[in-house]
Amino acid sequence: MARCDVCGNDYARPMVIRVEERMGTFDSFECAIHAMAPTCAHCGCRVVGHGVESGVNIYCCASCARHADVATARA
Ligand SMILES: [Zn+2]
Ligand SMILES: [Zn+2]
Repeated sequence: MARCDVCGNDYARPMVIRVEERMGTFDSFECAIHAMAPTCAHCGCRVVGHGVESGVNIYCCASCARHADVATARA
């Protein structure tokens, strides 16, 4: 048995996910996403797919990356 890092649920078949140096134990993908998924630098939603990396930022889609690039260019 292991406890979910996010909701504290005791679960018999937990998933352990490691991202670089961060490790987490979760009872569901929902909790894993909550704790581990990066957020889009433009709209703030969770990047669950591959996302679009642009420099140090990550975006949920090409549209967000484009919008953010335009905003940066204007600044
Ligand atoms: Zn959980
Ligand atoms: Zn976005």
